Amino acid sequence: MSKRDYYEVLGVGRQASADEIKKAYRKIAMQHHPDRNPGDKAAEEKFKEAAEAYEVLSTPDKRAQYDRFGHSMGNAGGRGGGGGAHGFGGMNMEDIFSNFGDIFGDSFGGGRGGRRQGGNRGANLRVKLKMNFSEIAHGANKKIKVKKYVACSPCGGSGAKDKSSIKTCQTCGGSGQVRRVQNTFLGQMQTVTTCPTCNGDGTSISAKCTSCKGEGRVYGEETISMDIPAGVQEGMQLSMSGNGNVGERGGPAGDLLILIEEEKHPQLSRRDLDVIYPLYVTFPDIVLGTQVEVPTIDGRAKIKIPAGTQSGKIFRLKGKGFPAFQSYEKGDQLVEVNAWSPQHLTKEERDMMEKLQHASNFKPAENAAAEKDEKGFFDKIKDAFS
Ligand SMILES: [Zn+2]
Ligand SMILES: [Zn+2]
Repeated sequence: MSKRDYYEVLGVGRQASADEIKKAYRKIAMQHHPDRNPGDKAAEEKFKEAAEAYEVLSTPDKRAQYDRFGHSMGNAGGRGGGGGAHGFGGMNMEDIFSNFGDIFGDSFGGGRGGRRQGGNRGANLRVKLKMNFSEIAHGANKKIKVKKYVACSPCGGSGAKDKSSIKTCQTCGGSGQVRRVQNTFLGQMQTVTTCPTCNGDGTSISAKCTSCKGEGRVYGEETISMDIPAGVQEGMQLSMSGNGNVGERGGPAGDLLILIEEEKHPQLSRRDLDVIYPLYVTFPDIVLGTQVEVPTIDGRAKIKIPAGTQSGKIFRLKGKGFPAFQSYEKGDQLVEVNAWSPQHLTKEERDMMEKLQHASNFKPAENAAAEKDEKGFFDKIKDAFS
């Protein structure tokens, strides 16, 4: 299949300016961008074709050669040696993004490394976020105010006083990149680096914006709304790409890193996915049985304490614990029943207790401690409280 003419690919005339070529490429690349056309092979081919055309037409010396020799220069390079520097074509996606990724601006929210090589990306921002038990269990929308670099509004992030003070960079001719050809034992090798003058922007500024002094950003405050998924834990870090500090002069923003902090619950504590609640009842309650209410993550729940319950017994409220992060697994609530021992007794109470102390039914059975499973479990829970 013969190659289409590069000007035709970009839909521009042969006299098109660097700016027109850039605009035309941007439009086509956005339309066929793989993020917008997942799995669409035809779109991917169009995207690559446009990138190749742009790679040639945006570089003054390559464009001049293409104008003279057309596609033949690319083919001749492979065999003759020496022409290898121009053997373009067959760019892979990674090349495209690392070479001209910045042309897409912020329309595609990052996630693909190396979009801009100028080191002009804003710094990441780290914030702590407190979540209570209910928010952790269900997920929550949280809004937090963060202080960070935001785009300067008078200049729209360009750093320029007005449109006419934005000029094409003289060093790189607007491409944002400089190419060097080196002779190596493999033939000529071409290296591409970010233009040191404009730091990859392709523009220079003759008069700076007075609000941001040319930086294109100012230190400000932004309220960020975030959906925190259910099942997060103390110390977990989530990241929102593109919500950190904005870069200088329209550079892409860094990421917002959210460090989760668990708010203490007044009655409940956590062990992995389980919620732990130590319940204290009266001695007659465990002897005679009763019904009590216990706090859970979502309001109160009734539990029945049967007659003859041993102190230290653990009741399990199925599914009343925390969900696992990004999973259907769910913990339980464990209610540990303890008999409350009074600190002061009246004469009458003491007499009753003394009578019970020696009653034969109140003597523990020889094998009382042999409910081994429960004991091991109980010890684990005690560890969680210490
Ligand atoms: Zn430059
Ligand atoms: Zn400004």
